Amino acid sequence: MSKSASTSHLLPVFARADVAFERGEGVWLIGTDRERYLDFTSGVAVNALGHCHPHLVAALQEQATKLWHMSNLFKSPDGERLAARLCEQSFADFVFFANSGAEAMECALKMTRHYHFSKGHPERTRIVTFEGAFHGRTLGTLAATGSAKYLEGYGAPLDGFDQVPLGDLDAVKRAIGPNTAGILIEPLQGEGGVRAPPHAFFRALRELCDQHGLLLVFDEVQTGMGRTGELFAYQRIGVTPDIMSLAKALGGGFPIGACLATAEAAAGMAPGSHGSTFGGNPLAVAASNAVLDVMLKPGFFDHVNRISLLLKQKLASVVDRHPDVLSEVRGEGLLIGLKAVVPSADLVAALRAQKLLTVGAGDNVVRLLPPLIVSEAEIEDAVVRLENACVALSARAAQPEAAR
Ligand code: PLP
Repeated sequence: MSKSASTSHLLPVFARADVAFERGEGVWLIGTDRERYLDFTSGVAVNALGHCHPHLVAALQEQATKLWHMSNLFKSPDGERLAARLCEQSFADFVFFANSGAEAMECALKMTRHYHFSKGHPERTRIVTFEGAFHGRTLGTLAATGSAKYLEGYGAPLDGFDQVPLGDLDAVKRAIGPNTAGILIEPLQGEGGVRAPPHAFFRALRELCDQHGLLLVFDEVQTGMGRTGELFAYQRIGVTPDIMSLAKALGGGFPIGACLATAEAAAGMAPGSHGSTFGGNPLAVAASNAVLDVMLKPGFFDHVNRISLLLKQKLASVVDRHPDVLSEVRGEGLLIGLKAVVPSADLVAALRAQKLLTVGAGDNVVRLLPPLIVSEAEIEDAVVRLENACVALSARAAQPEAAR
């Protein structure tokens, strides 16, 4: 076969916007075109402390001169410290470090199955999941995601997932059978369009799990590490899972994922039952410990919640002024969704033209995911850019088709 004539050698699995960045400073990205962009993507909920936060830069620089990689064949004092801090801040007793959200989820799925195996019930492998979910792109997490569009062409999906409509408790009850091992849910669906059932639904899931001996698994890859205004979204909901996955903001931009579990849920895991070469890498652990240093400072989440309220209020008034472009503001903390009336991709493009970067999501929603350190002035700046984009989109819609 002849070599591709394409000018790019990156596997074309992403529809990349025609813009590149060479530097980041806090909430701002500086393009190769020398333009400054207000970054309300945070690398899809990753750069929670903005770009090049001085404390994170210093931590990584220091670690880079000491030790880059160390096998899990040996002890990891810094990994121990990070795990202890995550457990101290959460319901968990144990942490497994991975390198991404999908890997953190793989651990969660395997642990859920292994729990029942270790209790003498190897047949209990099935997990109830929800429509609109997103859990990753490995074959296991894709099967949990259950979206036909992502599964197409990859053969038979991994068996063991029973997907029901989000918020439908009767459907959950019907899906639970003798082979059910657990229930997996995102506290707030990000990719699915910033959608969440009421808190009472999560409470009911907890009760069902307790009643049937199931494990409740929260995928907090996107919601965790402060995104919804608490360190973990389950704390806001007031319902405690048995297992929780984290990634994205955990390393503030350095790849790291984690699967947290109670001692009971982790009871089936022993040396050899799971593993990773890079999981708990010293650079990743240093970045993550530095993220916690900043997030655990008193007042950090007060800022997130105050800014969130301000942003939501301002967005609601833009929605009121532009009903031909926007119909709703959704979300918690700084995981905000704008339900669009126009195609959401058009809104993302119009915002990019205003040098405001946002992320599309399911359900025709545009996500606003600013770094959690975003200031009031930057929020006001973003809202002006949104207003301008809405005016541009309204003007375009008013034009006759041929003139567009
Ligand atoms: N789970 C959730 C809720 C996510 O939002 C994502 C990514 O968007 C993943 C899992 C997969 O994470 P990763 O892309 O790091 O594998």
